[in-house]
Amino acid sequence: MIDNGRVEESNLHRQIIFDTADCGRPKAEAAAKRLRALNPSVKINALDSELSAENTRTLLAEHTLALDCADNFPARRAVNAGCVALGLKYVYGAVYRYEGQLAVFDPAHGACYECLYPETGDERAGACEQCGVLGSLAGMIGAACAAEAIKLVAGMKETLEGRLWLFDALTYEGKIINLRRNPGCKICREL
Ligand SMILES: [Zn+2]
Repeated sequence: MIDNGRVEESNLHRQIIFDTADCGRPKAEAAAKRLRALNPSVKINALDSELSAENTRTLLAEHTLALDCADNFPARRAVNAGCVALGLKYVYGAVYRYEGQLAVFDPAHGACYECLYPETGDERAGACEQCGVLGSLAGMIGAACAAEAIKLVAGMKETLEGRLWLFDALTYEGKIINLRRNPGCKICREL
């Protein structure tokens, strides 16, 4: 688990792993403390560091599955590039205003994140602080990410692999889109 942020009061309505006592503490450390309290037998390696294009591949190489719960495009693209390079499956979750997204990417066999959202050059927008998000939606999508991760680790066949689920928290309507690899994708086209 990696995060270089500090818990702020404004995070608490959507980042349900934290509470007021955590404010000011490193997020990775606070989240690890909460998870250890839930289950002391779980081994957690919490890193108070920034995820970057430089360190992602090294960090991911030690794991069998990744979860991208980032709130910024550079981190998302770093996770994707690392998973593509290593052939690692990963669960992707995102929230924006009233919309949630969930997908499982398997870059060795299908589309990657870059195929779905090619880099535009202006990636500053999109963070919850700027755009707003229905706070409870983050927890809903987070729980759905956890469900996909459990299914993948357990070897279950019914997963969102190669598909994107779009969920509207206003209407409770959703749709699932099949993802296809972009032959011109700058990240996975060499596979
Ligand atoms: Zn791709």
